[in-house]
Amino acid sequence: MVSCLTLLNDSHILARCTDGFNQTLCGMAIAVQDTLPALIAHDPAGASCLRCQDMMRHEAAAQAVQPRPLSARALVQRLVDHLNNNDTTRLEELLAGSLLKSLSAQRMSRLHQLFPGWCATVDELIADEGSAVLRYQVSFADAFSLLGCLGPAVKTGQAIVLRLANHRITDACPIVDDFAFWSGRASTADTGCAHCIPHTNVTEGSINDRHYY
Ligand SMILES: [Zn+2]
Repeated sequence: MVSCLTLLNDSHILARCTDGFNQTLCGMAIAVQDTLPALIAHDPAGASCLRCQDMMRHEAAAQAVQPRPLSARALVQRLVDHLNNNDTTRLEELLAGSLLKSLSAQRMSRLHQLFPGWCATVDELIADEGSAVLRYQVSFADAFSLLGCLGPAVKTGQAIVLRLANHRITDACPIVDDFAFWSGRASTADTGCAHCIPHTNVTEGSINDRHYY
């Protein structure tokens, strides 16, 4: 048992102030006009009430267990980081639906094989909960002259619309996609893909090697 006197001699952590009452983490409700300044600790860590400290530790532990979902902006930025690093680990934490299915490790490594050093820089990112518009530029090496600029190059003005649901990116609709990375993802007959034109003089291998798939 803790006596009232002990409680009033302690300094407590303020949980909230509602309806004219200061409520402490340990469960006391004290009328605002009766709250002596010394009752509420200025610095929660310095509160002398052990129950308040216990409650604060419990709340901190509960928050640590449930990480906050990433914002739409953070999700898109994280996806760009993964693309730049050719990193397909834990993509399921960013993607869902058709995009998760189609953005395979094979497809991403193919992008980096065809365009060594492929690195996107975000120029503009407008995001809300359901969609995001991403404008970006890419520096890369056009190793096989697929984009007609052998050697180090930059492509500006790349743009896609991304669809989001439940804190995941679910689809990507390309607007300007010079690398044909987003377009034709879902189709198998990728006749419109510039990279599917055979470049038999570049390296050994079959025409299929030139695909992202
Ligand atoms: Zn307390």
